[in-house]
Amino acid sequence: MAGTWPTTYWHLLDDGRVQCDVCPRACRLHEGQRGFCFVRAREDDRIVLTTYGRSSGFCIDPIEKKPLNHFLPGTAVLSFGTAGCNLGCRFCQNWDISKSREVDTLADSASPERIAREALDLGCRSVAFTYNDPVVFMEYAIDVADACHELGIATVAVTAGYMCAEPRAAFYRHMDAANVDLKGFTQAFYHDACFGELAPVLETLEYLKHETGVWFEITNLLIPGLNDSVEEIDAMTQWVVDRLGPDVPMHFSAFHPDFKMRDRPPTPPATLSRARAIALGNGVRYAYTGNVHDVVGQSTACHACGATLVERDWYELGDWHLDEDGRCVACGAICAGVFEPRPGAWGSRRRPVRMAAP
Ligand code: SF4
Repeated sequence: MAGTWPTTYWHLLDDGRVQCDVCPRACRLHEGQRGFCFVRAREDDRIVLTTYGRSSGFCIDPIEKKPLNHFLPGTAVLSFGTAGCNLGCRFCQNWDISKSREVDTLADSASPERIAREALDLGCRSVAFTYNDPVVFMEYAIDVADACHELGIATVAVTAGYMCAEPRAAFYRHMDAANVDLKGFTQAFYHDACFGELAPVLETLEYLKHETGVWFEITNLLIPGLNDSVEEIDAMTQWVVDRLGPDVPMHFSAFHPDFKMRDRPPTPPATLSRARAIALGNGVRYAYTGNVHDVVGQSTACHACGATLVERDWYELGDWHLDEDGRCVACGAICAGVFEPRPGAWGSRRRPVRMAAP
């Protein structure tokens, strides 16, 4: 099962190369070459996925770690990734996985059915495709998602949203929730720091909002001096409210020096709070700080009356003031998201899982 897998989104060019059509990078490959993501390759005149069924490891996380604050709060999610990425962020916080040359890190292997069964047996409500971008292993992720749905397990994509329209539609048909990393709000930042483009990511966000029922939230990692200006946050959050509406939660997350960007300091908590204030001021109803301790900045407040609905400190839930229908117990206003009558009790634990032999 594990290893090379045929794929759908590619076509033959007049010059004899084969173009991968999964993401806007549009890699054009000669026989034997690999794409920018390193895990999609040309073999026998077609594009194959070389990491099907193989993983860099499994871990049970709190769903808040994805981060998703409005999707089954307090529940456990079985998380895994593979290898490779279709962006080239100099600040990557997962570079050992995303930039690995696959074989050294893909220690675990599991069939879609086995992952779904493990998730169920371990008490996880969902499975997340994370650590590296599922765009590059979409065939494996889709098969895992189908197996999960057979057992009533939800599916979560953690992605940068850098994807072409046709595979995007095929991929999100199988997802229940997503966290999309909006890395900045200028083309210059995407070009210089991510080796990518902003426009396709905005298209993915609009697609999710207007053409799917996928619950999604946005993460924005703020890097001092690069993408954290008042003007950029103001423009981004205005765009979110104008084009996606006020109910898409936004997470402003702290950067730590890593990979090829070690010359920048960690993000000061005040920068995160400032971004959150700008978002709230522009009409984003649910804006959060991330990767820091900040009960006020991480708790969910009712957009209508201001009462605390879900208290949170990092990944730990506190008071819960939503009724069984996901409404504020104080004023009855609905809180956008996917809620159950009671929160989960997983807490902030993180538990690595080794896939046992079947
Ligand atoms: S998914 Fe990989 S191979 Fe395909 S276009 Fe994107 S980077 Fe290139």
